Amino acid sequence: MKYKIRTAVPADEEKIRGLFLEMLRTIYQTDDVKGYGDGDLDRYWSENQDRIFVAEDGQVIAFLSVEVHHDPVDHIYLDDFSVAAAYRNKGIGSSLIRTAEEYAEQIESRAVLLHVEKSNTSAMRFYERSGYSVFRDDGNRLLLKKDIVNVFCEALREGNTAKLLDVPKSDLHNHSTKGCRREWLAERLKRSLPDPPVPLDGLTGMQDWFRSSIKPFCDGQEGALLRWEGAFAEAKRNHIARLSMNFGAAEIDQAGGTEALRELIEGFHRAYCPDTVFEPELTFPSNCDAAFEAERIDEYLQPGWFRSIDICGFENYQPVEVFLPLYRKAERYGLVKKMHAGETGTADDIRRAVEVLGLSEVHHGISACASKETMRFLADNRIRLNVCPSSNVMLGYVKDYRDHPIRILVENGIQVTINTDDLLIFDSSIENEYLQLYRAGTLSAEQLDGIRRTGLAKCAQ
Ligand SMILES: [Zn+2]
Repeated sequence: MKYKIRTAVPADEEKIRGLFLEMLRTIYQTDDVKGYGDGDLDRYWSENQDRIFVAEDGQVIAFLSVEVHHDPVDHIYLDDFSVAAAYRNKGIGSSLIRTAEEYAEQIESRAVLLHVEKSNTSAMRFYERSGYSVFRDDGNRLLLKKDIVNVFCEALREGNTAKLLDVPKSDLHNHSTKGCRREWLAERLKRSLPDPPVPLDGLTGMQDWFRSSIKPFCDGQEGALLRWEGAFAEAKRNHIARLSMNFGAAEIDQAGGTEALRELIEGFHRAYCPDTVFEPELTFPSNCDAAFEAERIDEYLQPGWFRSIDICGFENYQPVEVFLPLYRKAERYGLVKKMHAGETGTADDIRRAVEVLGLSEVHHGISACASKETMRFLADNRIRLNVCPSSNVMLGYVKDYRDHPIRILVENGIQVTINTDDLLIFDSSIENEYLQLYRAGTLSAEQLDGIRRTGLAKCAQ
């Protein structure tokens, strides 16, 4: 049967009250029962974490109320629970409980607790099957408990790639035309593709290798389309729940403008990962004629598709002030302002770019680790760094994973995310980025999970 589970809203209150009475009548086998009093449900409509989840099939047919507690440890308590008589034994109860468990995982609760009447043996069997066991004997009732396992941390400790692939993650620093896996592309091209030398000789070495060793096999608009398709295939395979990809002005022009590009890209998004939150980014190379681009940026932005702006390529090619006209226009369109900085440039360069252009995110930004003052500035102003460990190691900007500056950045309270940059070149998909840092002992499983959650959270604009 088809039904939808969602968080209840105040308009559901009457239905929930009715279902509660129905449950009491069933349990006590009498019509003489007293339901919720006035205001009893108000706490679910306020800003706290308590929730009611409802199942609806055109109308609300079941509900489960969830209280969040922090004492003695973070846990949730499943309070009232009712499924309309005509809808029982159809798995709706299990779905509601699963939703509550997912919620517990999301808010980092460590356990789910609930009471069951001792006489209710069928409910007891159901909970045991669902992984609950007796925690305390409360007279007529038993308090049951299920520990919430952090699947992501567990997968890191086990080195379980399949499990890691399954957990939602983000990729927020991704150059779309190099966003697919080499293995995927080789399969589609029905030919083998070479591995790059390690380390690649910086950005120049990388670009030269890409032009000579990969591009000849997937060039032009057709080749770009294939690589874009591969980027979305990867988002699906790796459960990328939030994806920010950038597109250069030249790529937009080649596709025939923003609307034409949007149609192509959204086609792949719909086909591969329609549930992924997708945030297209407009990027300009650092050697662009910024005044000229500022004249025509409206063309790109008017359709309202792009969500952020970026400058990529060689750092310090031009003073950051040069890009001000572009960023001023981007601001008018409500874009999130980002820029590549602090990969080869210094901590001061990062701070300057943030201050001059009003950035809220920096792509890379790893050089900040050299300056306590810059790190404090980034932490205090909640500037997020979209870090790409394999890119840094393979380009020779960082010695190895163990010494990657991400550890210092995290320890100094800076918000960071972990990303792929150019997957087609570096060949390290997102689950592997986390795994490499864990294996090298750079960050703990919990720290890496915190980074994963930062990437999934809505960015502050
Ligand atoms: Zn990049």
